[in-house]
Amino acid sequence: MTFGWTEAAADGAARAGTLDTAHGPVATPVFMPVGTAGTVKAMTADQVRTTGASIVLGNTYHLMLRPGADRIERFGGLHKFMDWPGPILTDSGGFQVMSLSALRTLDEDGVTFRSHLDGSAHRLTPEIATEIQHKLDATITMAFDECTKFPATADEVRSSMERSMRWAGRSRAAFVARPGYAQFGIVQGGVDPELRARSVAALLDIGFEGYAVGGLAVGEGQAAMFATLDATVPHLPRDQPRYLMGVGTPDDLVGAVARGIDMFDCVMPTRAGRTARAYTRHGTLNLRNARHQENQGPLDPACRCTACTRHSRAYLHHLFRANEMLGPMLLTQHNITYYQDLMRGLRNAICSGTFETHAAETRASWAAGDLG
Ligand SMILES: [Zn+2]
Repeated sequence: MTFGWTEAAADGAARAGTLDTAHGPVATPVFMPVGTAGTVKAMTADQVRTTGASIVLGNTYHLMLRPGADRIERFGGLHKFMDWPGPILTDSGGFQVMSLSALRTLDEDGVTFRSHLDGSAHRLTPEIATEIQHKLDATITMAFDECTKFPATADEVRSSMERSMRWAGRSRAAFVARPGYAQFGIVQGGVDPELRARSVAALLDIGFEGYAVGGLAVGEGQAAMFATLDATVPHLPRDQPRYLMGVGTPDDLVGAVARGIDMFDCVMPTRAGRTARAYTRHGTLNLRNARHQENQGPLDPACRCTACTRHSRAYLHHLFRANEMLGPMLLTQHNITYYQDLMRGLRNAICSGTFETHAAETRASWAAGDLG
């Protein structure tokens, strides 16, 4: 079993293919639901599978603090612990350390921080982050990088990128290669095309099984994100997977697939599902809105999920108004199902050579709005 990505079809810069892993294949382009703390919030593992998801993401930061990587290792790894036998990608913890933890201090060796749960002291270095992901039995391990703040000065972006490249080398040295497993390097460099190109070159020198574009969707806006992808993706190897971290809205996904990205993760569909916000073929809508209270029709008549095939908008509206937990459960299922259907549509369009037409029709349908 060799880890690798095989191209099935390309249409412009967009590409469709298959990722082969120790825990099964993944058709790309793919959206990975975020299973932060060993669960895709509000969903059972069976429900996640039913949406069509083939790979999920786990968060090193959350899992190292609770229940702890050693405990998960004693249970045979995260796959067994959360009943997800399919592929799992884990982040390295760097992003959450910077966004969630208190009293963090950064030095050349790594980051010391206090848990946002109980204030206990912890340390993450490239070596520790890689070891934790090994204990979790991550199918795809991410290199430990520094989350560059945004906005930042040109000097800050450059020195942060350079430190992340030194950390990438140390992450690689700490990675235990196993058949069907992979480690991805993370391209940094803010929105500066030259720094991005230098970062790619540094990662290619080290050599990883795949490459992620990090440090985007942090407030730079979609136009700057797409421009950065235009400046970065062409430098990445054609025969290896490309992952855009933490992105995004359905429109972000279509634009990034058009630019040659294969893999995505984002909390948006799950987080939105818990707050009554639905992503549909006709754009987004809020089920708390009073206009849904007498509506006997489905949320999205073209959707195959339980929320859409078994329930009315009026019922979903009622669940959210009454703060019933079934509301977030059903709407999370819907949003993840929609994201999976969106990606499958993009894959099919790439394979049939109709990507541009399909993307234009998808955008037009969002723009036309919700008629329910
Ligand atoms: Zn649905």
